[in-house]
Amino acid sequence: MILIDWKMPEMDGLETARRIRSIVGPEVTIIIMTAYDWVSIEHEAKLAGVNLLMSKPMFKSALVSAFTKALGEKEEEARRPDTEDYDFTGRRVLLAEDNAINTEVAVMLLESKGFVVDTAENGLRALELFSKSPTGYYDAILMDIRMPLMDGLTAAANIRHLSNQDAGTIPIIAMTANAFDEDIEKSRAAGMDAHLAKPIDPGRMYQTLYDFIYMASE
Ligand SMILES: [Mg+2]
Repeated sequence: MILIDWKMPEMDGLETARRIRSIVGPEVTIIIMTAYDWVSIEHEAKLAGVNLLMSKPMFKSALVSAFTKALGEKEEEARRPDTEDYDFTGRRVLLAEDNAINTEVAVMLLESKGFVVDTAENGLRALELFSKSPTGYYDAILMDIRMPLMDGLTAAANIRHLSNQDAGTIPIIAMTANAFDEDIEKSRAAGMDAHLAKPIDPGRMYQTLYDFIYMASE
């Protein structure tokens, strides 16, 4: 495992990681540590072959959980099915999206892998549907950020405050256009668990749902 600081003179952590990765191959875990907000370098870090970004100052508990996560993720990657092998039969997703074409495409992609999909055309409707659902009815929520009446951030924050037993644990996955980096940050603050860039990459969507629905419960 290699721990690299991000801000360093001469060569920064990203470049260091990139060069080390090209030498060591995929087996070694590379972690970048930073005291700065790392949302803006998340994508670049991934491309450089960084497995994990960590905030400084580092606490013992955070270090241990980061190491466990970094090492665990490798095992999980090996266990993930190929895109064509995903089967979510019997699982139910709540899809909140205001754009009719995006909705149609996402529903088709989800249903093709066995999901039952309920749709909401805005955040308010999503909140209403979730609040009326019995515990465990939905396995995950896919939430567009920019929607009329109630946006995805507000809807997610409201869902987290509902009295439903699974309100705090239901995976909520934000869907954001690539350009809106601040949305990713805000979606975390609103209690969302992950984000998918739009246009949605089917493989990434299945993988993310798979991780939350099947891996989290293990
Ligand atoms: Mg929208």
